[in-house]
Amino acid sequence: MVSTLSTLSKEITHKFYLNGEWKESQSGQTLDIESPYLHEVIGKVQAITKEEVDQAVNFAHEAQKGWAETSLQERAKYLYKWADELVNMQNEIAEIIMKEVGKSLKDARNEVVRTADFIRYTVEEALHMNGESMKGDSFPGGSKSKVAIVERVPLGVILAIPPFNYPVNLAAAKLAPALISGNAVIFKPATQGAISGIKMIEALHKAGLPKGLINIVTGRGSVIGDYLVEHKGINMISFTGGTNTGAHLAKKVGMIPLVLELGGKDPGIVCEDADLHEAAKHIISGAFSYSGQRCTAIKRVLVHEKVANELVEILKGEVNKLSVGSPEEGCTVVPLIDNKSADFIQVLIADALGKGATVVTGNKREDNLIYPTLLDDVNDTMRVAWEEPFGPVLPIIRVSSDREAIDITNESEFGLQASIFTKDINKAFSIANKIEVGSVQINGRTERGPDHFPFIGVKGSGMGAQGIRKSIESMTREKVTVLNLI
Ligand code: NAP
Repeated sequence: MVSTLSTLSKEITHKFYLNGEWKESQSGQTLDIESPYLHEVIGKVQAITKEEVDQAVNFAHEAQKGWAETSLQERAKYLYKWADELVNMQNEIAEIIMKEVGKSLKDARNEVVRTADFIRYTVEEALHMNGESMKGDSFPGGSKSKVAIVERVPLGVILAIPPFNYPVNLAAAKLAPALISGNAVIFKPATQGAISGIKMIEALHKAGLPKGLINIVTGRGSVIGDYLVEHKGINMISFTGGTNTGAHLAKKVGMIPLVLELGGKDPGIVCEDADLHEAAKHIISGAFSYSGQRCTAIKRVLVHEKVANELVEILKGEVNKLSVGSPEEGCTVVPLIDNKSADFIQVLIADALGKGATVVTGNKREDNLIYPTLLDDVNDTMRVAWEEPFGPVLPIIRVSSDREAIDITNESEFGLQASIFTKDINKAFSIANKIEVGSVQINGRTERGPDHFPFIGVKGSGMGAQGIRKSIESMTREKVTVLNLI
């Protein structure tokens, strides 16, 4: 595919950000960032050294001490300015997101604007979070002369590691709560997504954030990841990415707080009484937006056998209407992040077909572009029933009862979200109460947000919670000061 836009120069070697300055790494090495649809290098980022990681952590600690002393209103000013700068830079950043991770320009621009909104809301939430006081005599034998003042204090230096798919939004979802609550941050962007992350920090630099509070460490996770997560100077880690990477991290990290938001296998449960056209609309947008490269994409349909044929026909019609091709043309289904991801999906499809699944539509590939694929007659012997494809393939599993749909949902190693489609609200709640996931969507697609809702993965989908208030809480701790009245 050929680009019609040209802001990015192939020559650009992006620097990393250390103590408020843009620097080249002492390693002398860079990583090529290749566009998933242009199939050409769109820029280079620094492969930084362990010594530079140490420097970043030291600068962050130095800066954090003073930052924690500043008033909330003072911190708020920088973050509001950051949001404004992001809005000013939205076209430039959106183009980079598009080229770097292959997302349509409209979605990329929405990501930037949503991030600015996220930052503003984070500030407002923090401004309205107050501690509490407790009276000693509310406990049996406790003294009336004791009063506890409970307030939240920052944890120190937060390591923020986001994935490639929302390189600005999911990064800022860690950075903004960390900063407003008085922490400093070591930001390790996904390598494919690092240029977008760097641009986002340029906006923060323009906002005049004091030096040292944010330091970007670019480099492959497989090379510097372990060093970062085991670093003694890190006080908390907020990670979003694949389940295998998260599990690896959890083994390495010692006694420091860790929030993990990982993969999913979100089901769309379609009950016998569902409005099938409405359900299909949500399932299609849930499963195929950005080629299904969303943690909360609908990744399997569990449909009652009595309405399965009808649903499959509707889904087929809708899938065939999806636009497929370049993100520059605003297509919904775009080339995947790399060839390895496309290969993996092909393996899942081949495994299912070998075990008796049928192709309703799709199963076509051009390089890393996988056409939207609907598989019917999927059963529990097939890998695609259980594994996360992170691509545009949707398996349909026919069930004979709501109970069976609940059981299949709960057998999954994942527990991110689930959608239930039914006209019966009692049934919806009854199913929702029995399924083991972080969030249940009734008559809507699985999705993150609005961003102030708690966002939770259970089982293999994560640990702890995000969502604006939850993120602030995860990056602070309670501190109790007891006043003993005389
Ligand atoms: P990934 O391969 O796990 O990478 C995620 C991040 O971890 C990247 O920044 C990566 O850096 C870094 N990393 C890799 N190895 C590391 C190590 N040993 N130590 C520390 N960091 C390391 O995931 P991805 O392919 O970017 O994203 C897709 C996955 O994320 C999917 O499974 C999706 O479901 C999940 N996801 C979850 C959520 C959620 O909120 N639950 C949201 C979005 C995505 P490099 O890029 O340099 O390797």
